[in-house]
Amino acid sequence: MREYSNYPLEAVVAKANLLIKQGCDVYQKFTCSGCGARLTMAKPNVFHGSGTCDRCSRTTNIRINGCNMMVVTNRWPLEGA
Ligand SMILES: [Zn+2]
Repeated sequence: MREYSNYPLEAVVAKANLLIKQGCDVYQKFTCSGCGARLTMAKPNVFHGSGTCDRCSRTTNIRINGCNMMVVTNRWPLEGA
């Protein structure tokens, strides 16, 4: 299984808010605690405390396991990134 970087939810949200203010779209990503799949939330700029896997249907507690984000922007460089 590939290892992914996950960070505390609060830290990711704090950084995401900086990026959103600069006009970016951010998508929360997390690792499924059931099958290890790397999952990305469908809606931009919304962060969840848990997420359900579309492959194995297991719900992951993101508050415990942490998460990361994908940033979509045409602005570069970004402040605070
Ligand atoms: Zn899964």
